[in-house]
Amino acid sequence: MTMTDAHYKAPQVAGYADVPLEEKQRLFAEVKNDIRFADYLYGCYECGICVAACPSARFYDFSPRRIAQAAAREDVELFYQQMQEDIWECSQCFSCLRCPRGNNPGGIITIMREVAVGNGLASAREALKAYSRIIYKIMSTGTQVSPDMLQPDAFPDWGPETSDVSAHLDLWRRALPPETLHTTSTGWAVADKTLIELYLIWHHTGALDMIADVDPGLHAILAEVMEERLEEEGIEL
Ligand code: SF4
Ligand code: SF4
Repeated sequence: MTMTDAHYKAPQVAGYADVPLEEKQRLFAEVKNDIRFADYLYGCYECGICVAACPSARFYDFSPRRIAQAAAREDVELFYQQMQEDIWECSQCFSCLRCPRGNNPGGIITIMREVAVGNGLASAREALKAYSRIIYKIMSTGTQVSPDMLQPDAFPDWGPETSDVSAHLDLWRRALPPETLHTTSTGWAVADKTLIELYLIWHHTGALDMIADVDPGLHAILAEVMEERLEEEGIEL
C-alpha cells in the first residue's frame, strides 16, 4: 500500500504527544507570520557555521542549526519541542549572524520566545520565574537591576565584597560623578517623561499583556503601579 498524505502521521516528539498537532501548527504559523521572520530565514545549507560560532552550543545540548533547519523544513513537531526546551539556552549574542545563507537563528529564537511568552507556554513560565524581580524592577522604574538588589543573601555567589558594598551603598553611589547615578533604588534616575512614555509603550504594544499569561501576580502588580502613575498624569487608558 502506498503511503499517502492522509495516512502519514508526523513523528510525535516524546513528551509533547498530548499537545494537538493543530496547536503546534498554530504556534509555528504565529512565528512564521511575524514580520521579521522573512528576514531571518532564507533556507539552510546545514553547514554548521552558526554552531561553531555559538557560545551556548559549547555548553548545552543546543544548536542554532537545528533551529534553522526545523523552521526551514516546517517541522512543527520539532519546532514545538524547541519552543518548550531549546530556545531558552540561547544567550542572544547573535554570533550566529555570520551564517553564509544570511540567516539569523538568534532572531528566529527571539520570535519563538516572544510567541512562547505570549501564549503562556510552560517553558516560558519556567524560564521567567527566576526573573520576576528583575522584570518588576525594569518595568516599574524604567531602568535595569538596581544597586539595592546587590544583597549578599539574594546572590551568595557574588562574593565577599557584596556585604561591604551593600552596607555603604548610599556612600558609594554619591561618590559617582554623574548625578543621575546618585540613586540606590534604580540603576540611574529616570526622567518622569521617559517613564510615562515607557508605560504607554508597554501598554500599547501589548508587552504588559504578555506577562499576564506567564505570571498573573506580577502582571497585576505592574498594571496597578502603571495605572496609578498614569492617572496622576491625567492619562486614562
Ligand atoms: S543557519 Fe546558516 S550557518 Fe547555520 S547551518 Fe544553516 S546555513 Fe549554516
Ligand atoms: S544568538 Fe543564540 S543561537 Fe545565536 S550564537 Fe548567540 S547563543 Fe547561539
